[in-house]
Amino acid sequence: MADKLQDTRRMCVHTQTTKPWSLAEAIEGYTRASVPGITVWRDHIAPYGAEEAGKMLRDSGLEVVSLCRGGFFPATSGQARLDARNDNRAIIDEAVAIGAPLVVLVCGASPEIELPVARQMILDGLADIEPHAKDAGVKLAIEPLHPMYADTRSAINTMDQANNMIMALGSNQVGIAVDVYHVWWDSFLKAEIGRAKGSIFAFHVCDWRTPTRNLLTDREIMGKGCIRIREIREWVEQAGFNGFIEVEIFSDDYWKQDQDKYLWRLKSAFLNHV
Ligand code: ZN
Repeated sequence: MADKLQDTRRMCVHTQTTKPWSLAEAIEGYTRASVPGITVWRDHIAPYGAEEAGKMLRDSGLEVVSLCRGGFFPATSGQARLDARNDNRAIIDEAVAIGAPLVVLVCGASPEIELPVARQMILDGLADIEPHAKDAGVKLAIEPLHPMYADTRSAINTMDQANNMIMALGSNQVGIAVDVYHVWWDSFLKAEIGRAKGSIFAFHVCDWRTPTRNLLTDREIMGKGCIRIREIREWVEQAGFNGFIEVEIFSDDYWKQDQDKYLWRLKSAFLNHV
């Protein structure tokens, strides 16, 4: 146990965590800090294009853990829903180009669409793009988001809803991304993580800041908030997850700091609190 905890061999950082860095700078920075895994956000690919980004990533020797992000299936017009599915197929192709085995999905929501209807649109959208993901050899992970995002970002807000969704789909191509920031408060979390056994494709960590000053960009470094990260890690590992553990922090404060020093701080927090 002690060995496992003193280990950053499964540490991955999201490029959005070090948002001020370009993809090239992130690759250099993570390599300098001996962080072995990288999850790439599409914003960081855009300036280069997927082919060029893929070449940079392959040359770097870093492990590409996932591509963030696809999803956003619900829409009021049928055409917009079809467009969203085509966008997701293109995102799957982008994952292939950068060597990412997984696309993380923020499933989408709209204040104009009732949540159960939005969930059905998500299910229909997923069922439609699943064959393309299978052909491409790319897995898809539904990320339940904290209920504060149920108006515009995701109608999937609990592990229970995510489990129901993957059960309804019945494809081993689609699983779940467990992000402690979104699910830590849920009294059914342990049971639902157990129910997701074999279907947990990703594990994201950060911490919950009190008070939270911004709904999107005020996440905390692991160990500085109230989330029992190590306990949740134990649960996901008992449910069979043994992949990279991804540090995903959006923070206006930390983005202002020296990103090299910040990365070393994250490494130390990872060792001590994850
Ligand atoms: Zn996440």
